Amino acid sequence: MKVILDPRAGICGGVRRAIRLAEQELAGGKRNIFVLGDIIHNEREVERLDRAGLKTIHDGELDTLPELLEQSGASQLKVLVRAHGEPPEKFAKLAGLGVEIIDGTCPVVTRSQDLARRYRQLGFQVVIVGKHNHPETIGIVGHTGGRAKVVQFDADIQQLVVGVPTMVMAQTTISPRVFAGMAEKIRACVGTVEIKDTMCRFVVRREQKLPSFARQADVILVVGGHKSSNTIMLAAACRAINPRSYHIVSVDEIDLKWFEDAKVIGVTGSASTPHWLLQEFVDTLEQWVAKGRIGAKSSTSGNTR
Ligand code: SF4
Repeated sequence: MKVILDPRAGICGGVRRAIRLAEQELAGGKRNIFVLGDIIHNEREVERLDRAGLKTIHDGELDTLPELLEQSGASQLKVLVRAHGEPPEKFAKLAGLGVEIIDGTCPVVTRSQDLARRYRQLGFQVVIVGKHNHPETIGIVGHTGGRAKVVQFDADIQQLVVGVPTMVMAQTTISPRVFAGMAEKIRACVGTVEIKDTMCRFVVRREQKLPSFARQADVILVVGGHKSSNTIMLAAACRAINPRSYHIVSVDEIDLKWFEDAKVIGVTGSASTPHWLLQEFVDTLEQWVAKGRIGAKSSTSGNTR
C-alpha cells in the first residue's frame, strides 16, 4: 500500500497572506490582536493560531472590544480582517471603536468588491452567484450599498429584475460548473447580461486537476474543515469519481475499514487546508502502513478512536 499526496492541495495565497499578517503581529509574544470571524475554515488551524495568541471575535461581540482593551493592559487593540473581506460599514464600526485595523482581505476578493461597486455605480443590477450567508458574498453586497443580489438556488432567480442592464459575477470559490450553469439560467430569465468570471484561478485550477489525482487512488481522504465550502465542493467532486472518498479534518476520524483491499490512498485538501495538516495525515498513514496496521486485510477493522 502506498500513500500519495496531491501536489496541488493546500492553503491558497490569500489565506496564507492573512495568516502571515497575524503571525507577524504575534511575533515577540504580543497578545493584542483579534481576528473578526474564523481566519480560515479549518478548525485545526484556528486552534493552532489560538494557542499562539490569535483570538477570534465574532460580530455580536465587537462592542466588548473597549472592555477587552482595558483588561489586556495593551495601549491599542488590533483587529485583523480575514481574507474573505468585510462590508465598508464593518470597517467603519471597527474604526469607531478605536481599534487598529489590519486588512487581510485577499486581493482577488478586493477586485470582486471593486467590480461590483463600479457596476452598481453605473446603474447595473449586480448579481453574485454564490452562497447567501458566506462572508465573502456578504462583504461584496456591502460594497454595493446592499443592492447586489445573491443567487444560490434556482428560486433566487425569481427576485431579479427582468430587462435591466445586469452584471453576473461569481463568489471566488464557487465551482466553475455551478457558475456556468447558473449564469445561463440568469441570462435566460433576465435577458442580456454581462458575465464576469471572478472565480479564483487557484480554485479553478484545483478543480480542473483534481480528477487526474482522484483516479490514481483507491481511497481518497479529502482533508479540510467541516464548514469549508471549498472542501465540501472538492469532496463531492472526488466522490463523483471515486465513491470511496471521505471528508475529514482529523486523523481521529479515520475508520480503518475504509482501506480494505486498497493499494493507493490519496490525500488531498482544499484552499483552506494547511500543509502541516496534510503532512500529518501522510506521516500517520505511512506509519500505519509500516507497522502493518493498514495494508493487510487482517488489520483493517475498527476505527482509530
Ligand atoms: S481562494 Fe482565492 S480568492 Fe479566496 S482567499 Fe484564497 S486566493 Fe483569495
